[in-house]
Amino acid sequence: MRLDTLAPLIENIQRGLYKKAVITTHHKPDGDAMGSSLGLYAFLKHHVGDVRVITPTDYADFLNWLPGNDQVLIYEGNESVATALTEEADLVFCLDFNRLSRINEYGDVVRNSKAEKVMIDHHLEPEHFQQHTLWDPKSSSTAELVFHLIKHYFGLEHISKDCATCLFTGLMTDTGNFQYSNTNSLTHLIAADLLEQGADHVAIHERIYDVFTPNRSKLFGYCMLHKLEVIPELRTALIYLTKEELQQFDVQTGDTEGLVNLGLGLRGIVLSVLIIDRSKMVKMSFRSKGDFAVNEYAAKYFNGGGHRNASGGASDEPLENVVQKFRDTIKDYQEALMAI
Ligand code: 5GP
Ligand code: MN
Repeated sequence: MRLDTLAPLIENIQRGLYKKAVITTHHKPDGDAMGSSLGLYAFLKHHVGDVRVITPTDYADFLNWLPGNDQVLIYEGNESVATALTEEADLVFCLDFNRLSRINEYGDVVRNSKAEKVMIDHHLEPEHFQQHTLWDPKSSSTAELVFHLIKHYFGLEHISKDCATCLFTGLMTDTGNFQYSNTNSLTHLIAADLLEQGADHVAIHERIYDVFTPNRSKLFGYCMLHKLEVIPELRTALIYLTKEELQQFDVQTGDTEGLVNLGLGLRGIVLSVLIIDRSKMVKMSFRSKGDFAVNEYAAKYFNGGGHRNASGGASDEPLENVVQKFRDTIKDYQEALMAI
């Protein structure tokens, strides 16, 4: 992580040079995407007169309690307002993604904006569309990077309770409750600082995790009972869902979050895959254990990427073809999967 390269940007912010800023994050934002964006918003609004958070799409209901949520503008359905705001901005922050294709059609709006662009991200293989960069693939979360930026240049006391609440949410969700291998002693030290600044970890946890609707619970139960398939010779678990099944459980944005972890919780399983027939494409989620680089597999076969142990991909092919392609291609990795 190179914090020092941001010095000219920070100096300009402190001199009040920027009047209008936009903060954006990836398609179907998750806890880290919204937590880091709204955490930065809570801080930046004291330094830049007009700050807006624009998401390319909607996001899960369990994130809509975050402080500042009422200020978020969703690009889909508000294209002209969002485009005008982005064209007028002199600063655009791109958080928790590093390729403009991750924000769909809004990517061209950002690319064409005259604003200086700042990328703050922790995913592999960044594209270069920005003037300012805070990028560290070893960082647990984008929220962690926002934390470092504020603490280093302004001091911990500039992290308000609202800011701490948002950043803690990003840290907690991207580390799977401080469980995944991206968690280390520094992650816990940051969490401690955020608690000191007023984040209420019990309330945050409840609002993120203890909010299943009956339909979502039934979907999880249905997947456990009828859809979870184990391929023991590959130490792999697979769940796939058809459009009809999504309708049956009235699946809303965010309802399938965490479903891929059901497979990874099985004894001996080191790779879990969730394949969903979404309206526009077939979307895939991959989770792995140990050194099985599932992001490389996702990039090779499903135009995807992400982190070593948590990646995604997509396909335009029909669901059956995608599932079959997964079954066929994953066989080549038997040796690697058995070795973990
Ligand atoms: P999820 O399975 O939670 O949707 O995504 C897991 C991780 O993979 C996230 O870090 C996300 O950014 C990344 N990811 C998900 N879908 C895609 C995709 O289609 N392309 C790329 N490059 N990364 C993805
Ligand atoms: Mn993230």
